Amino acid sequence: MSKRDYYEILGVNKTASADEIKKAYRKVAMQFHPDRNPGDKGAEEKFKEAAEAYEVLSDADKKAQYDRYGHAGVSSNGRGFSGGGMNMEDIFSQFGDVFGDDLFGSFFGGGGGRGRTSRARGVRGSNLRVKIKLTYEEIAKGVTKNIKVKKHVVCNTCSGSGAKDKGSVQTCSSCGGSGQVRRVTNTFIGQMQTVTTCPTCNGEGSTITAKCTACKGEGRVYGEDAISIEIPPGVQEGMQLNLSGKGNAGERGGAPGDLIILIEEEPHKELQRDGMNVAYDLHISFTDAVFGTQLEVPTIDGRAKIKIPAGTQSGKIFRLKGKGFPAVNSYQKGDQLIHVNIWTPQHVSAEEKTMLEKMSHSSNFKPDPDKSDKSFLDKMRELFS
Ligand SMILES: [Zn+2]
Ligand SMILES: [Zn+2]
Repeated sequence: MSKRDYYEILGVNKTASADEIKKAYRKVAMQFHPDRNPGDKGAEEKFKEAAEAYEVLSDADKKAQYDRYGHAGVSSNGRGFSGGGMNMEDIFSQFGDVFGDDLFGSFFGGGGGRGRTSRARGVRGSNLRVKIKLTYEEIAKGVTKNIKVKKHVVCNTCSGSGAKDKGSVQTCSSCGGSGQVRRVTNTFIGQMQTVTTCPTCNGEGSTITAKCTACKGEGRVYGEDAISIEIPPGVQEGMQLNLSGKGNAGERGGAPGDLIILIEEEPHKELQRDGMNVAYDLHISFTDAVFGTQLEVPTIDGRAKIKIPAGTQSGKIFRLKGKGFPAVNSYQKGDQLIHVNIWTPQHVSAEEKTMLEKMSHSSNFKPDPDKSDKSFLDKMRELFS
C-alpha cells in the first residue's frame, strides 16, 4: 500500500507555516473524527492518516527528514510511523495540544482532553493566586494570616451537583453511567478497541434534566471564603505556597483548584535582608568610636544591646550570631551583620574648629593601620566564606 504525501493529506503546501499545518490538521481531524463518523472505516483511516501526517509535520526534525527523504526518512528512524502505527490513544493524546481543552471538549465531549480514561465528575476549578505582604518580623517568626478570598464556591442549594433536586439527575443512557464509551472497530491491523469520554454526559456518567436555579446548573456560585494561612518562618520574596483545594470550586462537583500564595516582603525601615542574614548600617560618633559605648540596635526580633569597644574603626563589622532569618525547613539561622560607620561632622563651630585643629597635630590622630585591621576585601571574604 503506497502512502500518500503528508502535505497532500492535510491539504497544505510545503511552505505552510506551523500554524497553518495545525489549522489544516484540525479541519481534517474534525471532518473524519470517529465520533462524527460512527462505523465508517474509510473515515477512520483518513483520521489516522491525518494524525500521522500531523505527527511528522508538526515536529521540525521529523518534517526536515520527511522533506528530504520522504516516507523513508521518517519510517527508518526507528520511531515507527510506518504502517499507521499510531493507535487511537496516541492520536487523542495529541489533541490536547492541537485543539485546547475547550474547543475540542465542546465539540466532541472532551474526546481528546482530560479525564478520558476515568469517569470525571464536573470540571475542575481553576487555581487562584493571592499576594501576601509580610514584614520582616512576621517572616522571622512565621505568622497565621486570615484572609478573605473572592472566588467560586460550591452552591449550597444543590451541594454542587447543579441539579434542581435528586430526581433531576439521571444516569446517562449513552454510557450507562460509566462516563466512557467503548468502540470496537476492525482495521487492517486487526480489531481495535478505543475508549473515549461519553459525549452525551462529558464523562460525568449522569445528565441533569432540571438545573438548580441558584447556580443555573453550574454547581457553584461567586462568593467569598475566609481562609486561614499558616506561613512558616523564613519564607522569602517570590516564594509560593500552594494550598491544595482552596482555589475556585469546580463546576458540578468537580475538584476545586488550588490557592497559590505569592510571598512579598515589605521593606524594613532600617534593616536589609540578604538571604538568611540581615544587614544593618550603624552610624556612631567619632567620640563614641574613640571612647567606646553601649547602644541598642534594631533586629528582626526587637532591639538588642551591643557594646562598641574603645578604638573601633570605621568599616568594622560586628556579627550578632543567630539574629538573622531562620531557614524555611531547618533549624539553621542567619546572623545580623552590623556595619559601623563613623559620622564625620559636616559643619563645625569656631570653637570646635579650634579644638580639632589642636588635636590634628597629635600623632595619635595619624592613621596607622596594622595587620590586625583587616582590609575591606578580607572582611568580605571572611563574612561570605
Ligand atoms: Zn446550585
Ligand atoms: Zn454518558
